[in-house]
Amino acid sequence: YVGKTANQLFVEHVRKLKVKDYKSRPVVVTEELSVYDAICTMFLEDVGTLFVVKDGGRLAGVVSRKDLLKIALGKQDLQAIPVSVVMTRMPNIITCSQEDTLYEAASKLMRNQVDALPVVRPMEDGEGLEVVGRITKTTITKAFVELGQESVL
Ligand code: ADP
Repeated sequence: YVGKTANQLFVEHVRKLKVKDYKSRPVVVTEELSVYDAICTMFLEDVGTLFVVKDGGRLAGVVSRKDLLKIALGKQDLQAIPVSVVMTRMPNIITCSQEDTLYEAASKLMRNQVDALPVVRPMEDGEGLEVVGRITKTTITKAFVELGQESVL
């Protein structure tokens, strides 16, 4: 018997989906941007996570909605505080690459309890990572909806 069950075919299909075919445009800011402007950027760009870069595009950190809410609860001047103070920093950033499967990226989102992963590749000078995209829980939801619509088998 060499046939595959419908379930095996479905699992194979799911695990063929690639990050590069689903990634969205990353919203990137620099380390010096103020917390105030970061909040404005989140509203204007309609995203929940900003990727922070330094010296011409090297990934330095990630800022989430709650990182910004937390600092906004205090009495500090949000225009005077740079996002670098509140971001989660490299090397503690969970990333994925274009060639990864969407399934691997989704597993990382779940395992690390984060909403978004930067899609990265090595910088041309070999030092650090360049941000080339974004995978979020919305990306995974969109793929899930597509899987429900199409007939795979
Ligand atoms: P929120 O804080 O708005 O619920 P997340 O659950 O994504 O959003 O973020 C939780 C914490 O994890 C935040 O402090 C954030 O800076 C950090 N974080 C978000 N994404 C990543 C990531 N890809 N790698 C490492 N840390 C992250």
